[in-house]
Amino acid sequence: MSAFANYFTHLECSQTGDHYDHRQAQNLSKAGKPLLARYDFETAKSRLDRDEIAARDGGFWKWRELLPVKEDKDVAALGEVDTPLIDVPATAKASGATGRVIVKDEGRLPTGSFKARGLGLAVSMAHAFGIKRMAMPTNGNAGAALSAYCSRMGMESYCFAPEDTPEANLREMALQGAKVYKVNGYIHHCGALVGAGKEKMGWFDVSTLKEPYRIEGKKTMGIELACQMGWTLPDAIFYPTGGGTGLIGMWKAFDELERLGWIGSERPKMIAVQAEGCAPIVKAWHEGSEHAEEWLDAQTAAMGIRVPKAIGDFLILRACKQSGGFAIDVSEAHIEAARTRCAREDGLLLCPEGAATLAAMEKAIADGLIEPDATSMLFNCGSGLKYAMPDAAGTLDRHAEIDWDAL
Ligand SMILES: *Cc1c(COP(=O)(O)O)cnc(C)c1O
Repeated sequence: MSAFANYFTHLECSQTGDHYDHRQAQNLSKAGKPLLARYDFETAKSRLDRDEIAARDGGFWKWRELLPVKEDKDVAALGEVDTPLIDVPATAKASGATGRVIVKDEGRLPTGSFKARGLGLAVSMAHAFGIKRMAMPTNGNAGAALSAYCSRMGMESYCFAPEDTPEANLREMALQGAKVYKVNGYIHHCGALVGAGKEKMGWFDVSTLKEPYRIEGKKTMGIELACQMGWTLPDAIFYPTGGGTGLIGMWKAFDELERLGWIGSERPKMIAVQAEGCAPIVKAWHEGSEHAEEWLDAQTAAMGIRVPKAIGDFLILRACKQSGGFAIDVSEAHIEAARTRCAREDGLLLCPEGAATLAAMEKAIADGLIEPDATSMLFNCGSGLKYAMPDAAGTLDRHAEIDWDAL
């Protein structure tokens, strides 16, 4: 039982609108599309007080009434926090911005990335359904969050990662209890293995958007940022887009907040950021297509956005369009330059995916796609500490005379 009211009513196919039973575990709809959680916000609206909820502890778990998890015993918690909004004035100035540029630093969450939000929810719901074994394809951070939350809840996890996934991620997953396999392919090839092994291994497939609850976790980014900005929204949100769960989730959150009467009808421009070496959504955006083709020979150091094929492509593209936003790609050199600049000038270490959003903002201002005085929010979705960094340390021999002028 729980002290929190629950308003979750059903699941809905994101393409056809057909309803699905939320009292049993679900993957994709019959149409092969993601399922979205729906709630009775009419009732919730008259009962919930946003300021009372905002004053709670518990990070994203404080929004329990807006989430699907019913019972306290199913809540997977590892010390979640509200992630800080950090202004980066020096970087903003150097990027041509005259408005506020804010980094939402998701690296502060358990396991060091915003994957904690999605997997915290997905693992909790799986626990409620009595699922004992979970599996997923991962570029690193998702697997880390899955393994941690599964272990926390006494569940098994299997992670399949491209063979060039950063070592820190692979070892973290394994140490936190997952069975980890390196696969000679991209993340969607790993996803195919998860699908192929399902029957024999009896695991639940928790791939991006192939179950309905990771998006519910990721939507808390939208609720949290609105709350932190006094129930207003920025002019533009730059989101590093792989599978797009966070972008779709925040877009969903803004709609739900409006139904609750917690915000008005204003919306930020939703901007999907990808790397030039893997930009299927950007290509589809420029072609005006509803779906994105698979990107061949995907290459970028920003592993979290190296996703050649996204099942929620049409939902990402739709949110960009409806919000007056767009999709934009940036070069590897620009990503690296942005990471270096933010670290040196504002003291904030971004992950490469986060640095991509900074590079994209700079490019968008230069190309006249957003106004220089816009309030922009950049998502630093993971801790910069898990990625390779340039080796720039000198060496000193403490027994020799030190040439201080040369330091
Ligand atoms: C997963 C991930 C992304 C992409 O997130 P989606 O919501 O799946 O598009 C971006 N950056 C990092 C660091 C990630 O781990």
